[in-house]
Amino acid sequence: MTTPGSPTSSSPVWHPFTQHGLREQIPLVTHAEGALLHTAEGRSVIDAISSWWVTTHGHCHPPIMAAVAEQAKRLDQLIFAGWTHEPAETVARELTAIMPPELTRVFFSDSGSTAVEVALKMALGYWHARGEARHRIVVMEHSYHGDTIGAMSIGARGVFNRAYEPLLFDVGRIPFPAEGAEQDTLDALDALCAAGDVAALIIEPLILGAGGMLVYSPETLRAMHAICAKHGVLFIADEVMTGWGRTGTLLACEQAGIVPDVLCLSKGLTGGALPLAVTMATEPIFAAHWSSDRARMFFHSSSYTANPIACAAAAANLRIWREEPVRDRIGSLAFEQSARLDALCRAAPVDNPRTLGTIAAFDLRTDGETEYMNTLAPDLMAFFRERDVLLRPLGNTIYVMPPYCITQAQLDQVWQAIAEAVTTF
Ligand SMILES: *Cc1c(COP(=O)(O)O)cnc(C)c1O
Repeated sequence: MTTPGSPTSSSPVWHPFTQHGLREQIPLVTHAEGALLHTAEGRSVIDAISSWWVTTHGHCHPPIMAAVAEQAKRLDQLIFAGWTHEPAETVARELTAIMPPELTRVFFSDSGSTAVEVALKMALGYWHARGEARHRIVVMEHSYHGDTIGAMSIGARGVFNRAYEPLLFDVGRIPFPAEGAEQDTLDALDALCAAGDVAALIIEPLILGAGGMLVYSPETLRAMHAICAKHGVLFIADEVMTGWGRTGTLLACEQAGIVPDVLCLSKGLTGGALPLAVTMATEPIFAAHWSSDRARMFFHSSSYTANPIACAAAAANLRIWREEPVRDRIGSLAFEQSARLDALCRAAPVDNPRTLGTIAAFDLRTDGETEYMNTLAPDLMAFFRERDVLLRPLGNTIYVMPPYCITQAQLDQVWQAIAEAVTTF
């Protein structure tokens, strides 16, 4: 069988974050349910990373699929400037009910990256409307906020954005609050904010995803929020990955007892079924754009803003959170993940084992050889794929972030493959 992307492939598809020159095998998936992906070759693969952190309740979760099918019969797409529809109204209403009450406004977009771009524009627009010269964005070292130009500007710099560096804007950076060095982070934030030109801090709360599943404490998160409040700096929480129960609570910010001024949500917003994002804002940020002057409106839109079918999926997700025991599933998965990581640590030497809610991660011991590090992650990926497990390590960091519906037997298979990998690599 010809696999797309194989040496004999004639597929014109250009895949994301894929080096086609390495001619890696690209499996063709025909259907999925729960935590399982079924390939054209007849294999059933466990999706242990929730299809890149989006799938929460499982693939093709029936209530979401039903809502999408139902909506598809009524209204497919609608201009959202000056027009509205029931699915968007429902999602916005229910989001304001389930999220912290301070976040009164909901702006729709299509992806995590656009939710972040919107957040930055809201922050700049807020200070512009107030006539204060605050343009600087402060970010955390190793953070990831997406791949559009603005989102890359505020993320970690490296090989993945070197070619675009001349276009990226300058930001203030604070160090990652590693255990024992939290005060350095707080001092750096305080010093940057004291300059008076900072518009906002944007942060991945409690865990930096693409940066390597780096975990820091709720106390530090709370302290960073307090420093921003002291200096009047807007606090933007990028919960694109952490939202929807990933870290054990609906939002990671909950664990620090804080409410951001701006909140970015995507990935699990539709249960991971369709592309949709929201940027939620407090009333003062909305009010700063409110005027009888058209020149002060929020200048942002994309063609598919609040697409009705995507909104129907999000509305179904919100209903699932109300009606299904989602929090119990998250609690059980968090427990199972911790237990399995503990067992692995007892059996084999691994570095920096860490868990946060449903996420478990550790670092594979390496001698740090550059050549080896270059091929380690793809070699691991292939190793897991041969065992019908979808894992995508970040360098030498192996992490498991499954859909909440994953079964015990499936988790066993995932962690068995990991145990084998640890002794093989
Ligand atoms: C995935 C991610 C994004 C980008 O979301 P996309 O939908 O891929 O554009 C932004 N921020 C964080 C924290 C993410 O994990």
